[in-house]
Amino acid sequence: MFRKALILAISLVLILSACLVPTPVSITLPPAATLAPTATPVSIPPTQALEPSPSTDMAQEATPTDPPPALKRVVLISMDGLGARFVTPEIMPFLASLAEAGASARQASTNMPSVTLPSHVSMLTGLCTETHGVTWNDDRPGYPEAEDLFEVAHNAGLYTMMLVAKSKLKQITEPANVDRQEIRYHGDPSVMEAAMEMINEDFNLFFIHLPGGDDYGHTQGWDSPAQLENFTATDALLKTFVEALAAKDGLKETLLIFTADHGGTRYNHGNNVPEDMLIPWIAYGWQAQKFQIEMPVSTADTTPTIAWALGLPLPASWEGSPIYEAFGSSETRQVTECTWPN
Ligand SMILES: [Zn+2]
Repeated sequence: MFRKALILAISLVLILSACLVPTPVSITLPPAATLAPTATPVSIPPTQALEPSPSTDMAQEATPTDPPPALKRVVLISMDGLGARFVTPEIMPFLASLAEAGASARQASTNMPSVTLPSHVSMLTGLCTETHGVTWNDDRPGYPEAEDLFEVAHNAGLYTMMLVAKSKLKQITEPANVDRQEIRYHGDPSVMEAAMEMINEDFNLFFIHLPGGDDYGHTQGWDSPAQLENFTATDALLKTFVEALAAKDGLKETLLIFTADHGGTRYNHGNNVPEDMLIPWIAYGWQAQKFQIEMPVSTADTTPTIAWALGLPLPASWEGSPIYEAFGSSETRQVTECTWPN
């Protein structure tokens, strides 16, 4: 009896220990196996979401439960007459901080002639001046024969808004492409006041034109104390505006691009000199990286960049290129060369 009991006891111990030993192994392995694949997709989807080209394939696979596109809205702010040299911590501390925290071009330039309407048409059509042909700088009937950003966005069902301080800028696109268009004639404060109200709309594309730098440049001179004071005052308005936008979504689904149509020298602009040609180009929010863009940026790159970020089709006619590297994409691009006048 005792021998049988002893054998039974030993058998029980062996069985128990046999059961216990593999148990910890099977507990520790699965977490390690599940952690590895989880870590990889976290970094991959944002990159894939940046590529607009596979959207056709993705649309076929899409189901009603798929999440909405990562980028919901773009605000493009063009500051008339703001040469790149004015974006400093002393003159425009807020914008300089965005340039530091976001993607900022070391060398961005407008096209010749470096004047308001031709430059804005390039900015919003992705075309060089020699292609879009708008060489004048006043109010005229008609619209450029170009597939501009508003047209492409509106045709895709997006809600577009334009807020400008010069009526000639209405020539950029046909009225049907703009869901809401406003003009303000009383300087940057009046424009920014309207902008603060307009962001309550459920928009996808918002173009804002601020006239103050150019106004003060032509009357007081570029680099004059009065012009620099205006830049500083507008910088504070921009801070309030961006903070209001950030309250919507922390800028996770909002992209801001800050740029200009030209700089200036003395009391004018329009020449092929760095003071007139070099402009800021800053992307902030959404997927914009903290990054210094080393390759040259053309104002004609602005529209392709915005369209690409929104997942819109890029017309083959566009001469500019998306600034992929501003968003951490490894896509390569060519430098956009505008040659007018030869
Ligand atoms: Zn201008």
